[in-house]
Amino acid sequence: MSILRGRLAPSPTGSQHVGNARTYLLAWLSARSQGGEVVLRMEDIDVWRNKPDAAAQALDDLRWLGLDWDGEAVVQSTRLPEHEAALAELQRLELVYPCTCSRNDIASAASAPHAEHEGPTYPGTCAHRKVADAATLDRPYSWRFRVTDTPAYFDRFQGLVELDLQKLGGDFVVWRAAKVPAYQLAVVVDDAAAGITEVVRGDDLTPSTPRQLLIYKALGLAPPRFAHAPLVVGENGQRLAKRHGDTRLSSLREAGVKPEALLGLLAWSCGWLPEAEPISAKELIPLFRWESVPKEPFVLRSAMLELVGFTSASAAIS
Ligand code: GLU
Repeated sequence: MSILRGRLAPSPTGSQHVGNARTYLLAWLSARSQGGEVVLRMEDIDVWRNKPDAAAQALDDLRWLGLDWDGEAVVQSTRLPEHEAALAELQRLELVYPCTCSRNDIASAASAPHAEHEGPTYPGTCAHRKVADAATLDRPYSWRFRVTDTPAYFDRFQGLVELDLQKLGGDFVVWRAAKVPAYQLAVVVDDAAAGITEVVRGDDLTPSTPRQLLIYKALGLAPPRFAHAPLVVGENGQRLAKRHGDTRLSSLREAGVKPEALLGLLAWSCGWLPEAEPISAKELIPLFRWESVPKEPFVLRSAMLELVGFTSASAAIS
């Protein structure tokens, strides 16, 4: 019998914050409440944006929250040969073409395109090229996947998702001119290799899912089930970021906040507790359910962080 396998996939491009914690909690609880395993993958292929110590810090954050994982952590940057093999297969199938367009397009492809980074639709400037044309190019080029349709899919949280990739970015980069894989390719190859059957992540990545489904199909791989959860936002309604003040898990830890206090707040925000009372991750396993999680983003207010014991002057969320 095949076992359900979920995953936690932090990127060491910065510190993990309260928003990441809520998404990791959902991913972990969903897997654990179904008796599933959890894989930890450090998504460190955006080498130019990685921050020193951020990977170790992310692992400490997860341990602090009590979100454990099975087996050794997978380090994405060590899997380059597998990523290269997948690119070669896409080339063999003529599903990708070499693209010499703007450095920006190419540079931004390594990281998961969180909503505001989706960017404009690619106009198809290089789409006339064949794979073999790469040999004739005297400029750096990326590889773009040719989008012909947008697979609809059933999201465990959002229901039926039908997007139009032609309007949402069009042909997308799977390999960067810097000769490293883009997020969209690496995530599929690594999730498939790890036998991931359930992906839970923030809903700013919803538009990435049809792209990834195209890659699964092209490579003949079985896709996982997906659930995209609403984000945590600041009081201005925008995705939690530095501008909202310090909500880093490492800062909460250093300030002596108890993980149970934060978990209680997150559990309350997901409708699993009537009040934000301290609780451990393990104790939440039997309380987890998708049905009570609000469809709207969770607005994190400074008063909430004060209630969990984070009274730092820098905790103001605007
Ligand atoms: N590593 C990505 C991030 O932290 C998550 C990508 C995913 O879950 O597919 O933004």
